[in-house]
Amino acid sequence: MQALSRSEQRSRDVGGHRPRSVAGVETPRTLDEVRALVRQATAERRRLYPISTGRNWGMGSALPVTDDNVLVDLGGMNRIRGLDLEAGFAVIEPGVTQRQLAAALRETPWMLNVTASCADTSVIGNALDRGDGCIRSRVHDVAGLEAVLADGSVVTTGGLDPAGRYHGRVAGPDLTQAFVQHNLGVVTAMAVSLVPRPETIGLVYGRMPREQAGMAVGAVSDFLRRGNPADGLLRVREVSLVPGSGDWMLPEGVDPNLFTILGPLMGGNATVELAEELLRKALIEVEGAEALRVVDAAEVAPDDPIYPRALMSQGIPTCRGVHNALGVTSCERIDEGAMGFLALMPLLPMHARKTDEVIAALQTAVDRHGTALMVELNLVGKHLANGVIQIFFERGVADAPYRAHQLRNDASCVLRGHGCAIYRSDIDHAAADVWSETSTAGLGMLHRLKTALDPDGLISPGRYGA
Ligand SMILES: Cc1cc2nc3c(=O)[nH]c(=O)nc-3n(C[C@H](O)[C@H](O)[C@H](O)COP(=O)(O)OP(=O)(O)OC[C@H]3O[C@@H](n4cnc5c(N)ncnc54)[C@H](O)[C@@H]3O)c2cc1C
Repeated sequence: MQALSRSEQRSRDVGGHRPRSVAGVETPRTLDEVRALVRQATAERRRLYPISTGRNWGMGSALPVTDDNVLVDLGGMNRIRGLDLEAGFAVIEPGVTQRQLAAALRETPWMLNVTASCADTSVIGNALDRGDGCIRSRVHDVAGLEAVLADGSVVTTGGLDPAGRYHGRVAGPDLTQAFVQHNLGVVTAMAVSLVPRPETIGLVYGRMPREQAGMAVGAVSDFLRRGNPADGLLRVREVSLVPGSGDWMLPEGVDPNLFTILGPLMGGNATVELAEELLRKALIEVEGAEALRVVDAAEVAPDDPIYPRALMSQGIPTCRGVHNALGVTSCERIDEGAMGFLALMPLLPMHARKTDEVIAALQTAVDRHGTALMVELNLVGKHLANGVIQIFFERGVADAPYRAHQLRNDASCVLRGHGCAIYRSDIDHAAADVWSETSTAGLGMLHRLKTALDPDGLISPGRYGA
């Protein structure tokens, strides 16, 4: 069998999005190589689309938003430039994976806020797309960054100095977030805020009847708003909606009649004990919540279904969750496996009745398209949840990818009708999602910023904007 070219490999996509033509793949390994590449591309007016590890599964994998971009694969630029174990910051390059940074932090007082995705995903790539870790949103991990602009110049933001040292957020405006979910430059390094390793991690896990999902969201939200003394991100997940008929699919082990509450309570022993007591009190009226387990994450056995989550809550990334969800034994197989996967990411209300209304509205879309979905609420703060709606489909079934995409489009409209805006997008909708949620004056300002830094629009065209 003939080996796939690098562009062919990078054109595979578990989401089954419309294929994009890729003009080539470049693999710079140093800051100077990135600068030279960008300068040459600007001179030749070639469009560049930087990726870190390209495992943006469900949102387009490694595919660019528009056609004829040169893919800039930064996976080989993988140095940990510095670890400040006193203040708790790491300065890393785009190819640094969760596995690599977590290993460097082993036996230190700090740990990484790992995501449930593959261990070999990029910390920078995920953070630039506003991903969620197990402890908090990755937004809170991004302390500063270094980027190459379209003219080849290098800028640093947020207190990261040109020598790669991080000093904390310094005086003056901080343009760090202008590079997150945007296309102003090629990000070549990031200062990442680390998490203090806690004395105890109590892992919360409970499965309850599906019809209690709204009640549970309201109860956990109350618990957070009154003041969770512990750290950690609680999730209400696996709220499965299946159609009355059709050949729908869900990951193995998911029971559509049940949903799950899951997440760590982290801190000192007394803090975690108190948090558990308050959480149980908040959930008192939720049917089935009395069986909730709160276990010491360090003592969960490898054959326990929550073992992968126990590892992640201790800052140890694992691919087991991804393998289970997508029915593969290697992450290398995901973009060509039998199972298709799409994600839709709306902000969701932290409110019992509104959750039930959103779920009922999504059910109509599920029935219309004969395709299942699973709702997850990541309770990242006290105001709104980061929703993750996962759509699984069989890629080999003739119209299944089409139905899955139609369901994602329809669900997005349904959610907007309920006031739920999209906070993280995919390659088909990234520009439209920005346009529809930003005022004309706001779009004008973004356009002026983009054209000032990248007049020919050569870097990541279409990514969250122009
Ligand atoms: C089962 C499963 C579980 C998942 N769990 C999670 C989860 O818990 N949390 C979560 O957030 N996601 C999750 N994901 C989604 C996804 O796999 C991760 O978000 C993953 O980290 C993104 O891929 P990446 O790190 O390779 O980033 P990339 O694909 O490299 O980057 C994402 C995008 O950011 C931009 N970009 C990347 N690097 C640069 C750069 N250096 N300069 C400029 N722009 C850049 C590009 O536009 C790129 O397309 C999950 C997916 C699956 C299938």
